[in-house]
Amino acid sequence: MRRLKNSIPALFIFLLIQSLLSAGNSLKNQDLIKQLYRDSDYLKKRAMISHTFEHTTPGHWGEFVKGVDEDLVTRNKIVAFTFDACGGPHGSGYDQALIELLRREKVPATLFVTGKWIDKNLKSFLQLSRDTLFEIENHGFNHQPCSIDGESAYGIKGTPDVPDAFDEIEANEIKINILTGRRPLFYRSATAFIDEAGVRIAQRLGVTVVSFDVLSGDAVPGTPAHEIEKNVLEGVRPGAIIIMHFNRPEWNSCEALEKIIPALRMWGYTFARLKDFPLKRK
Ligand SMILES: [Zn+2]
Repeated sequence: MRRLKNSIPALFIFLLIQSLLSAGNSLKNQDLIKQLYRDSDYLKKRAMISHTFEHTTPGHWGEFVKGVDEDLVTRNKIVAFTFDACGGPHGSGYDQALIELLRREKVPATLFVTGKWIDKNLKSFLQLSRDTLFEIENHGFNHQPCSIDGESAYGIKGTPDVPDAFDEIEANEIKINILTGRRPLFYRSATAFIDEAGVRIAQRLGVTVVSFDVLSGDAVPGTPAHEIEKNVLEGVRPGAIIIMHFNRPEWNSCEALEKIIPALRMWGYTFARLKDFPLKRK
């Protein structure tokens, strides 16, 4: 009975994806957004958010603004590995060695993915989403930092206004929900930069914005594995959220992780996904 119950959503999702594709509907970002702009529920929600935040000022811009969650609430030696997949011309790879390492070591992890990255890695994405070791969460539709006035971070232009900030969060929520049958609980803005208005928009959509505690530095070009290892091991503490990437196999993330996992285990740490614990809010 249990098996049957579990198999129904998977079958339903499979059929839904098949029917969408056979009807000529693509779930690729450029096509999905056109479909959403014809969907009355989506447009109603978009208009409601635009109206609600019409006169809102952006507030602070940063990685740790008010309302963003960081830290698992625990005094025990538990940490959460989070891995982003950003997408785009240089960011659409898949670090299979890293994922295999997590599987081999049975290390649960949270994977933040963008719609753009899914478009280039659909098969791998669906496999990851079926693996209970991993939790799939939202890293934005187009990997634009979530801003209501076009702020930038690390040279990446953010969303220019409220309706676009809404699309960046909500369209990827819907995309992941269609593909996996589960609506993401957490959103990490591209680059982790977000303004306070963006945080409130996400909250209104029922999504919790997550930043990080420990910056591994794997995304800084040329960072050697021992540097990433040092950053993580020096920054770690009970409840910490560690940020790394799994979309750039040419980076040293996997090599560093091979050292980080046994070191943390030796210190008595175990690993959790974000959904496994309450989170502490700023
Ligand atoms: Zn990213």
